[in-house]
Amino acid sequence: MTRIPIVGGEIDASQMGRTLMHEHIFVRTPELQEAWPGFMGFDADVAVADAQEKLKKLKAQGIDTIVDMTAPGLGRNIGLISRAVEGTGLQVIVVTGYYTYTDLPFPMKYNGPGKLFNNDPSDSFLVDLFVRDIEEGIEGTGIKAGVVKCCTDMPGVTEDIERLIRAVGKTHLKADVPIMTHSHAKSKRGLDQQRILREEGVDLTRVLIGHSNETADIDYLVALLDAGSYLGFDRCGLKIDEPLEDQQATLAELCKRGYASQIVLSHDRHCTSDWFPEEGVLAALPEWEYGFIQGSLIPGLLENGVTEEQIELMMHKNPVRFFETRSGGGSSSSSETATAAAGA
Ligand SMILES: [Zn+2]
Repeated sequence: MTRIPIVGGEIDASQMGRTLMHEHIFVRTPELQEAWPGFMGFDADVAVADAQEKLKKLKAQGIDTIVDMTAPGLGRNIGLISRAVEGTGLQVIVVTGYYTYTDLPFPMKYNGPGKLFNNDPSDSFLVDLFVRDIEEGIEGTGIKAGVVKCCTDMPGVTEDIERLIRAVGKTHLKADVPIMTHSHAKSKRGLDQQRILREEGVDLTRVLIGHSNETADIDYLVALLDAGSYLGFDRCGLKIDEPLEDQQATLAELCKRGYASQIVLSHDRHCTSDWFPEEGVLAALPEWEYGFIQGSLIPGLLENGVTEEQIELMMHKNPVRFFETRSGGGSSSSSETATAAAGA
């Protein structure tokens, strides 16, 4: 029995149901919204009402839980998230950590290991912020983060990205929540994340390397899997530079090789974002919508030899096992799911 915090309370991991592991309700740029109210047409009340409709639709499609991967750096605002989730019936896990591809905010340049102030080597300046979200709750609400997140994109492991990954590793060891990442798959950034987290003493089975569907490099993906981590095929329907058919073929191949018990699915879609005009997104990326996984991806996988049992692992049992595992105890259902994977 592992209790998982969600918006509005907590559940047992066994109650997660079908889970999308990497979505966003709101992506915002608070600095710009504050300086120029209405920037990119963002209106909180309109956005909340729109999100409620979209989340209710997800629930109606058979999704029980989503992980809202909106960390600080992406405009996380727990008040807005709570309003959007209320009454939808969806269970939403929220996260801490930080979202950046290169630099942390300016205060981190002056405070921390090797800096002018607050320079203790354990980086309590950064780690304590993340731990506060996990142990006390976010923004004084008591709503606790269930995941700690870091990013490594095309620019690679800059000085601040390395600091962030190490702080995320330290947070995990202190507060025992799993680690989920944003990674740039084409440049194999997941391997850097694994290396640094391993150096911090993290058990890589507690780590999910995100955005791993954006490559067809099976050897890279197998290396991440063989080191023990989960892979997020969590940008389903999003075609940036990898054709959707190829993404599906790569996933089917990994299932065929017996890795379905380490893969989870999601869209990485937002309800509202002030990064892009929604009509532009709909025109440029028509498949990138809630519903793609169940409407297109899963039927395609089933036609290509993936079994119902493997779908059940990726949509349900793997998320449960990922969240219910704690460093003290382990997972009660891991043997059951491993057997299912081996038989599939
Ligand atoms: Zn994301």
